[in-house]
Amino acid sequence: MSKTKKELRWALIGASDIAKTRMINAINSQPNSRVAAVFSSNADRATAYAADNKIPKAFDNLKTLLDDPEIDVVYISTTNDLHRDQALAAASAGKHILCEKPLALSLDDAQQMLKAAQAANVVLGTNHHLRNAVTHRTLRKLIKEGVIGKPLAARVFHAVYLPPRLQGWRLSRPEAGGGVILDITVHDADTLRFVLDSEVEDILARSATQGLASSGMDDAVMGVMYFRGGVLAQFHDAFTVKHAPTGLEVHGTEGSLFAVDVMTQDPVGRVVLRRDNEETEIKLDPPEDLYVHSVRHFNQAVLTGTQPFATGVDGLRSLAIALAAVESAKSGRRTPVQEQLAAREVH
Ligand code: NDP
Repeated sequence: MSKTKKELRWALIGASDIAKTRMINAINSQPNSRVAAVFSSNADRATAYAADNKIPKAFDNLKTLLDDPEIDVVYISTTNDLHRDQALAAASAGKHILCEKPLALSLDDAQQMLKAAQAANVVLGTNHHLRNAVTHRTLRKLIKEGVIGKPLAARVFHAVYLPPRLQGWRLSRPEAGGGVILDITVHDADTLRFVLDSEVEDILARSATQGLASSGMDDAVMGVMYFRGGVLAQFHDAFTVKHAPTGLEVHGTEGSLFAVDVMTQDPVGRVVLRRDNEETEIKLDPPEDLYVHSVRHFNQAVLTGTQPFATGVDGLRSLAIALAAVESAKSGRRTPVQEQLAAREVH
């Protein structure tokens, strides 16, 4: 596709809730992109979804959609087990790809996706929305400026209640990539990597089934990521907690940063710096919808050759951390992350 093209036509792969509630608006909000088509595995659902969301074309055959020369970009938001094959098909059809997290269900699969995108010379991004928030971008900037000195520890509070409309495959289908770790811990992993600008060496996790997930699946997890240089990051993720706020704290030698109500899809939350007993509210830039920010950067990457805000490699790295958490929760042992990525020559 010519880089001088002004408007990108996006196709949705997956008639999903996240596309309907966040991404269609984000794509159509941009002057240089619009949603032109949707694919669903079910013809009636494709037609109904297209009509409900004012999408011009509906497909129930992925190949036919990918053969359509009008389409420049695909947004993949099917269940997690389908991401790999759909991304590989999109890459071989020369379409740019923004894929939902987790990128895939194994590191081999994710790496195959990265290689396919590279070989086809198409952009591959991961839709990790949280790093797009002004709160998290501000945390990263303040830490880089040395405002809290040397970071020592972080704590993530990401225990929420899974809305009833989403209480489906996440709670009952491990083969589709359900479970709290691939759903929420993978976001923590990306957000912490982004905020701390550092990599996880290893992870220790303990999970539980607290009443929502089917037997043998997890709907709550706590654990610790050990970052390069010794920063400890504690996380609590759940589908089962109804009344808690979310948050992210980073504690350093010269101060602590408290970000409140920030592990969310909405452009909300605040950041407070605490030194000794004094608290200072940090003035934030005007918030932008997280998904709009993600799409804006993705369009720019396609049109001008920059990088998506979360790249394919970011998706591979957050997946490596989440898969290590799954393994640790099973074995009860500390599980290496960086070693596995180094063995795959991911830098
Ligand atoms: P949904 O359950 O809404 O959709 C997933 C798939 O389920 C769809 O592709 C669709 O298949 C099928 N489906 C949807 N509705 C029905 C129905 N009524 N009957 C039968 N099948 C149906 O998933 P989510 O939107 O919650 O999640 C999709 C992806 O997005 C996942 O990878 C998830 O991890 C990610 N996600 C990311 C978020 C973020 O903020 N970054 C937030 C939420 C999800 P078909 O397309 O064939 O119709």
